[in-house]
Amino acid sequence: MKFGGSSLADASRIKSVADIVISRTENEEISPVIVVSAMKGVTDILISAATAAESGDNSYKNLILDLKHKHHQAVKALVSDNSIGVTLLIDIDAILDELAEILHGVELVKECSPRTGDLISGFGERMSSLLLAAHISDRNISSEAVDARDIIRTDDAHGRAAVDFKISGELIRSRMAAGISEKTDNSPVFIVTGFIASTSQGVATTLGRNGSDYTASILGAALDADSVEIWTDVDGILTADPRIVPEAWVIDEISFQEAMELSFFGAEVIHPFTLRPVIEKNLPVFIKNTMNPSAPGTKIARTAAPKNRPITGIASVDDVSMITIEGGGMVGMPGIASRIFASVARTGTNIIMITQASSEHSICLVCRRDEALIAAQGLEKDLSDTLHSGIIRSIRLTDGLEIIAVIGENMQGHPGLSGKLFSALGDTGVNILAIAQGSTELNISFVIKGDDKNTAITAIHRAFLSQNPGA
Ligand code: ADP
Ligand code: ASP
Ligand code: MG
Repeated sequence: MKFGGSSLADASRIKSVADIVISRTENEEISPVIVVSAMKGVTDILISAATAAESGDNSYKNLILDLKHKHHQAVKALVSDNSIGVTLLIDIDAILDELAEILHGVELVKECSPRTGDLISGFGERMSSLLLAAHISDRNISSEAVDARDIIRTDDAHGRAAVDFKISGELIRSRMAAGISEKTDNSPVFIVTGFIASTSQGVATTLGRNGSDYTASILGAALDADSVEIWTDVDGILTADPRIVPEAWVIDEISFQEAMELSFFGAEVIHPFTLRPVIEKNLPVFIKNTMNPSAPGTKIARTAAPKNRPITGIASVDDVSMITIEGGGMVGMPGIASRIFASVARTGTNIIMITQASSEHSICLVCRRDEALIAAQGLEKDLSDTLHSGIIRSIRLTDGLEIIAVIGENMQGHPGLSGKLFSALGDTGVNILAIAQGSTELNISFVIKGDDKNTAITAIHRAFLSQNPGA
């Protein structure tokens, strides 16, 4: 059971989380393992503090005071036993002292490397796990906080480290399996930090923003859990981001493939890697609402009940850029595409979407804005011979764009769908800059101007998803 930052926003939310956990542990046969994110907003504060310290701005000290205040308030409201409370405050203050020392170091050297950034951004989970464990112990249920840096092993790709599943599985099972499989009255409820991990050298890493979902599925797969539950602040996966389409509704069942596509294309309700570890073991994943625990939520599984609508959901990726490589000389020239992809790979850029006109006059690559300039500069350098000879006429970079993805297993063999989709967009005057369709026909993705995002998503939702079958 993973509880996100929104479920841990303040003491009263943390109490609701504990209610859910405790009611589950009271069932003799079940020993849930809990994964927590940092309290809401804490990771953002930690990153802001690092940025301030790096630029020599000592306002980071106020941010540490804010964090101290937030966590002390929560301790006061959540722990009544004096000895549990005193120990917890000592532990939280020690963590914040360590944070202050590291930030002071960053201020002095005016540099925050990705490695130091990972260390700093993971402090929130260390505090929230102690807090929830202490509160549950305070309610007379044995509970133990676990630092995931001891049980999840990754490489050193800071910011989004890759997990070593074999070693992590062994570490997870040796730390936790005994307490779970031989459950006794004193078996502790483990409260594990989401998001953080470490290298074999013991250097702190993170699994990427929103990575606690992934932590939960890594643990679920390693421990052969019955299921993985992601507890958040919405009733499940909705047909579109509810902040854009208020009438979006909860999808009761969705396949692994569809959910992976939705999360890859920006539905932040689950981290895109979350389903990787559980697919192999065929563990179902449930998305549930901490504020509305009796709602059924969304079930993600190998197969989902058939739906009588062509699309399942809509997702979008903000702030992307498009690199357009154009030139008549590319037509029929073998090896050009491989040179383009090799060049982009050298800069470490993650390509989200690719399109190639069938005339081969142009290839478009879409990636995040912060990666696009470096990728475009790399292409200009690596393809300079073809630019000089005129094989390639231009390499253009366009910023401020948005990818919209329409997803659904029913799209397969659904003739006329693209026509309806693009005419719905045409009616609202949204201009489409590039289109791609997965060969599995599970998604159609297209690029538009960032300003057209809300209009486009609302129009597609109205055209395909206006009928909520549960309503
Ligand atoms: P948590 O703090 O629990 O990890 P997140 O903020 O990471 O929560 O993810 C939940 C949020 O994802 C929701 O509040 C919602 O605004 C947003 N969201 C975006 N797209 C979707 C979608 N298709 N279905 C549900 N929620 C979505
Ligand atoms: N606390 C981390 C973040 O804000 C991880 C998570 O919430 O899943 O990105
Ligand atoms: Mg999240």
